[in-house]
Amino acid sequence: MFTTAIKDYNATSAQPFAPRVVLFDMDGVLYDSMPNHAKAWQRAMKEYGMHFTAEDSYATEGARGVETVTRYAKMQLDKDLTEEEAEHIYQTKAAYFHTMETPKIFDGVVDLMRKIRESGLRIGVVTGSGQRALIQRLLNDFDEFLTIEQVTTAFDVKRGKPNPEPYLTGLRKAGNFAPWEGIVVENAPLGVRAGVAAKCFTIAVNSGPLPDTALLDEGAHTLFPSIRVLADNWEQLMAQL
Ligand code: MG
Repeated sequence: MFTTAIKDYNATSAQPFAPRVVLFDMDGVLYDSMPNHAKAWQRAMKEYGMHFTAEDSYATEGARGVETVTRYAKMQLDKDLTEEEAEHIYQTKAAYFHTMETPKIFDGVVDLMRKIRESGLRIGVVTGSGQRALIQRLLNDFDEFLTIEQVTTAFDVKRGKPNPEPYLTGLRKAGNFAPWEGIVVENAPLGVRAGVAAKCFTIAVNSGPLPDTALLDEGAHTLFPSIRVLADNWEQLMAQL
């Protein structure tokens, strides 16, 4: 299944695929956190007079929270929020999220990280999140694999996903890697678009309610139904190199 994907990738890349780092998205890839984020978004936006559905939260996933707030306020309230006002609404959302049960790490994540390390590749995380408590939890949960230098968050970039900036920053922070040296693992349409725009080999993991086409249409080079299945197929990918 990787043969065609790599061939397709190489057809558009400046250099052939030669991976040295895997950049994981956080929510919906490492943590089963999207249902909680969806509920928190809906509650917070409603409080400020905006209509935001669970579908909206999946469609906007990966974008910087303040960008999402600003865009919906303009669209629905015809209001230009200041950065401060947008941040306040985003923090309301973050506060609701933290009252909810701690989301679990997806089955297969730790196995996959061990295999990546055994293959001699580095690991990084690239998230649109600006929730400091979540980023701290990430560092605690994955301290075997990650240091703060390998994590790119909303605080590191001006433009969030679907802009390529987060993944380009992730490549740089992980060790000044070129796009063809990176593998992006994403669950969200905007995140896949960002990985593809950064010209990385982009693997979609469809852990949510969207159809596979929502991810494939954004240019994902291959797709798995879960991180567990990706972990079980890691050797196959390495065998192609
Ligand atoms: Mg995600």
